[in-house]
Amino acid sequence: MSGGPGLLFVVSGPSGAGKDTLVEALRENRPTLRYSVSATTRAARAQERNGEHYFFVSQAEFERLRAEGGLLEWREYNGNLYGTPRDYVEKCLAEGYDVIMKPEVNGALAVKAAYPDAVLIFLVPDRFAYLRERLLARRTETNEEIARRLEIAQEEMHFLVRFDYIVVNAQDRSQEAVRDLEAILQAERFRIHRYQDKELLGEL
Ligand code: 5GP
Repeated sequence: MSGGPGLLFVVSGPSGAGKDTLVEALRENRPTLRYSVSATTRAARAQERNGEHYFFVSQAEFERLRAEGGLLEWREYNGNLYGTPRDYVEKCLAEGYDVIMKPEVNGALAVKAAYPDAVLIFLVPDRFAYLRERLLARRTETNEEIARRLEIAQEEMHFLVRFDYIVVNAQDRSQEAVRDLEAILQAERFRIHRYQDKELLGEL
């Protein structure tokens, strides 16, 4: 019963909720999980490497990729373009690998429209005030950018009800959130609708 296409997991939620850290921890625990690296026109931060954190592309390259249908979804976020390369996701799923990605909220909903079977997980901090603290602490944005990201975060919260799961990333208790994410990944494997009737009945 373990064959078939892989599952698509989409971890979203406001900037600063801890998506990067949690997805990284999850990937360490599950080496077969494939991570979809996004393309972006944003400039790389000091620690970021091309092809690992993002594919850092020019506006023209991004436009070309988009025009060719190479992006599964794309969005403008805070003045930059971000998009999910289609080929990698399709290839991994077809090969039976589970895929994880972490777009912003509108991108997550666009993925669900393209892949109704995708599992959408909304990550929230235990207190909204922590978003600001986390964004300030990582010192990668200017104050104006942080203010704008917090504004976007408020708007993003309205979409929570369209997600499948909510995970709370409590301050200093991120291991619990990683465990919760793992429980979701595990449980989704056992959803009846993921199997063909004959697959299930054949084993009884
Ligand atoms: P950051 O600049 O902090 O890396 O990302 C800004 C926002 O863009 C985050 O909320 C992040 O989840 C989102 N993002 C990253 N990659 C993609 C993508 O491929 N598609 C969409 N729609 N959003 C993305």
